[in-house]
Amino acid sequence: MTSTDGRLIVISGPSGVGKGTLIQKLFEDHPNTFAFTVSHTTRAPRAGEVHGQSYFFVERPQFADLVSEGAFVEHATFGGNHYGTSKQTIADQIAKGLVVVLDIEMEGVKQMRANDSIDARYVFIKPPTFEDLEKRLRGRGTEKDEDIQKRLNQAKAEIEYAATPDVHDRIIVNDDLEKAYDELKEFVFSKN
Ligand code: ADP
Ligand code: 5GP
Repeated sequence: MTSTDGRLIVISGPSGVGKGTLIQKLFEDHPNTFAFTVSHTTRAPRAGEVHGQSYFFVERPQFADLVSEGAFVEHATFGGNHYGTSKQTIADQIAKGLVVVLDIEMEGVKQMRANDSIDARYVFIKPPTFEDLEKRLRGRGTEKDEDIQKRLNQAKAEIEYAATPDVHDRIIVNDDLEKAYDELKEFVFSKN
């Protein structure tokens, strides 16, 4: 399969919809094709998450310093934690000559969209139903109930925003994983 046209690929969608699962499959099936932008976050690492691979895990004061230094292309607060894509991680990944993939939430998408210097394509991953989303989020078992509630509230806003015309280049419903994965591959390897 050929590569894409070099534009960034921004993947968003509510927490628990399956973004990470789809991205992991894509990267595993296509080695040396994609590069993931490693975000900074103030949230605590989950079991198995590796600093510098999943995220750069930082304390709040360090995150605030990075914001004031203008280190981020975009940043947002999600579920009570801060997340941001540094200019450095984008530059590092572009330098590899691979297709750069971001996994970010809605406010980050808005900031990227508003930035004329960024050339990206946007794909939104949507749950088949809200109930399915809740089941997945709970089934993942990585957040306590209070945090799941925050994520579900945020999910409503994300799904509503995705209904705005022309925000995303593609909306993929992640019902059957293989079908969603095929659609993602088709999008990623297409030139428009
Ligand atoms: P996100 O990165 O969007 O927060 P994850 O990739 O962590 O979501 O997926 C959340 C949970 O849902 C995981 O336990 C994952 O195995 C499961 N999952 C992902 N896609 C599907 C699907 N199509 N059907 C059922 N479960 C899924
Ligand atoms: P999680 O805590 O589940 O890893 O991520 C929570 C949410 O934060 C997800 O929607 C994910 O896409 C988003 N996110 C991760 N990194 C960034 C980032 O750098 N910027 C923004 N805006 N959102 C991010």
